[in-house]
Amino acid sequence: MRERIQQDIKGARQLLKTSIRHWTSGRELRKEFNAAQQAGRRIVLDDFGPAIPAPEPGQPAADFTPKPGQSRKSHFMKLDEYPSTNYAFEVQKPPVSGNVINGLGETEHRPASPIFHTWQFGHPMGKLEFLFQGIRTKGEWIALLKRQWNTRRFTGEKAPEKIAVEDPAAMTEQIKALTKELGACMVGIAPLTDDMLTEELPLDHPYIISFGVEMDREAALYAPSERSALTIQAEYRGTDLISAQVAQHIRDMGWDAQAAIHGFLQIPAAIEAGLGQLGKHGSMISKDLGSMYRLGAVATNLPLVLDAPEDIGIDEFCARCQACTTNCPPNAIFDTKQMVRGRERWYVDFDTCIPYFVENHGCGICIGVCPWSEKGRGETFSLKIMAKKKAAADAANS
Ligand code: SF4
Ligand code: SF4
Repeated sequence: MRERIQQDIKGARQLLKTSIRHWTSGRELRKEFNAAQQAGRRIVLDDFGPAIPAPEPGQPAADFTPKPGQSRKSHFMKLDEYPSTNYAFEVQKPPVSGNVINGLGETEHRPASPIFHTWQFGHPMGKLEFLFQGIRTKGEWIALLKRQWNTRRFTGEKAPEKIAVEDPAAMTEQIKALTKELGACMVGIAPLTDDMLTEELPLDHPYIISFGVEMDREAALYAPSERSALTIQAEYRGTDLISAQVAQHIRDMGWDAQAAIHGFLQIPAAIEAGLGQLGKHGSMISKDLGSMYRLGAVATNLPLVLDAPEDIGIDEFCARCQACTTNCPPNAIFDTKQMVRGRERWYVDFDTCIPYFVENHGCGICIGVCPWSEKGRGETFSLKIMAKKKAAADAANS
């Protein structure tokens, strides 16, 4: 009881801090941004707050201009047209490229570096985040504060007595059932690896419970808009609550557990837990929901049985499909796999995506147009591709 009260006090303090930061950092930007939009002129981000850190000698600077390329608007999407790429802001002295921070072209493996949602205005992408946070609508701002309030329960004291786990398989089933009862539609267990961590969240638990909550596809098809942004915040609030509750349940059994949210890379964890595969649009695609889910995770040392990554045929499908690449307004999605921190993978050009994402308070067109996101289609796609792959492998072995 005492611990819960302390958590509530901590949550209230955090909320106050966030509100003050929003108010002080966002007020001037929001005023200028709205005036600039109405007048059809641009604000210069360099004029706000601390200086933008310059790239080191030899490091490429970020190029935030949209790329030329093939464009079309999918009939799935509900807005009459996608918002323009003629941004109401500019950066005159751009910082080091976000693709460099992400390790695009690097052949050696290394953990990811924090890049966005860092709350550090001195970070190379801090000015863009500063704008993203500053221009939220009142509704989005309240939704964010509600999420902040939930974070007070992410970690806490565990029960002094540890219950023995004699059957990790039964315990795994119990934890998965609980996660689903709380609202998840998919859940898997992965080993915690440094692919999932950034310097912001140095966890050292052996296991990750990764889960997904279904998104409201109807709202997602209105992206980018305040309607889709608010729905996304509500969905993340749902994943935050589930993470906190599952972590609390495990701590009540005397084992360590912490909701893994800020600074945790959800997609590599979910892929390792067998929930789906990476798509060309840079998000995970699951067989049942495509990319219409939000992910959450809990790190723990409770003995659990691991799941394994599953090939559902995404690479083969994405190699031939271009729905996301041609619908992305600034043309940020690479059509072929790239080398990123020592791994060949699908990759979205950070510098090209992020200005559009920021100006529109979030985006997500790429996940809305993905054919796998139409409920019921992924299973059929996967069955066909995997049957073809098996036939080709059988023919090669005969
Ligand atoms: S979120 Fe997707 S569609 Fe939107 S700009 Fe980024 S890559 Fe393009
Ligand atoms: S839209 Fe097509 S190419 Fe893009 S991620 Fe989905 S399946 Fe892959």
